[in-house]
Amino acid sequence: MGERLKNKVAIVTGAGSVGPGWGNGKATSVIFAREGAKVFATDLNLAAAEETKSIIDKEGGTCTVHKVDVSKADQVKAMVAHCLETYGRIDILHNNVGIVVVGGPVETSEETWDQVMAVNLKSMFLTCKYVLPQMEKQGGGVIINISSIAAIRYTGVPYITYYTTKAGILGFTQGIALQYAGKNIRANAILPGLMHTPMIVEPLKGAYAAGDVEKMIDIRNKQCPTGKMGDAWDVAEAALFLASDEAKYVTGAQLVVDGGITCKFA
Ligand code: NAD
Repeated sequence: MGERLKNKVAIVTGAGSVGPGWGNGKATSVIFAREGAKVFATDLNLAAAEETKSIIDKEGGTCTVHKVDVSKADQVKAMVAHCLETYGRIDILHNNVGIVVVGGPVETSEETWDQVMAVNLKSMFLTCKYVLPQMEKQGGGVIINISSIAAIRYTGVPYITYYTTKAGILGFTQGIALQYAGKNIRANAILPGLMHTPMIVEPLKGAYAAGDVEKMIDIRNKQCPTGKMGDAWDVAEAALFLASDEAKYVTGAQLVVDGGITCKFA
């Protein structure tokens, strides 16, 4: 066990994983716990959060699970209240939840637009709305918002709601970082590149290779300058740095974790 987050309480949203293996929220929860954080692992799918908890428990860490739909204000309010009842404070808010729906502006229904805005972007507004007063009361805290390189580049996949929400997260993060800079509350965004996580399989397999998952993985690997996608641990390590006191002078940053792909011309 490390001590980089010793005695800190961390809310992680989307702490489970949509499929077998390691998603970003799951790996981040585990790595936070390994560094001494008490992890409040929240998810729409309680069983997925419980799987993360069982890994943390086996390693001797501390974790509590909570079921929440982060796009719903009353549920987010209850999540924050439950965390405070359980651990008495909130030092880290890790906003990881994000969904992908393929479609450009013409193909996307109004319902899908509203849903993705709510799950990817409004969710971060809601968690911050209820967590910031507590952090202010405590004299500080750290917020990490998971964006994507899709906020700053066209990835080749036509998902207009994803581009829009992931770019919105950058402005949202800067706004919080600056408003709260003098209050010892830091807010940063992580922009993962092409990562090999369970979340890419279902929503994206059609967009890359007509449903052929192996082929999609091969295409995505070849797109990366390193010849290989990153994984959930790359995102989790970046989050650990931002959450830790080593990053005490880092706020308002957009940390790109992409193996160099956004530096590429073609
Ligand atoms: P994931 O799809 O495995 O999702 C994690 C959990 O989020 C799931 O267990 C799911 O049940 C939960 N969830 C979904 N909707 C929810 C809601 N409304 N309320 C509460 N929980 C909900 O994803 P992950 O691997 O943990 O990472 C996701 C984040 O990483 C997203 O923000 C995604 O946009 C970002 N990202 C991923 C990649 C990639 O290539 N994999 C690249 C860039 C950014």
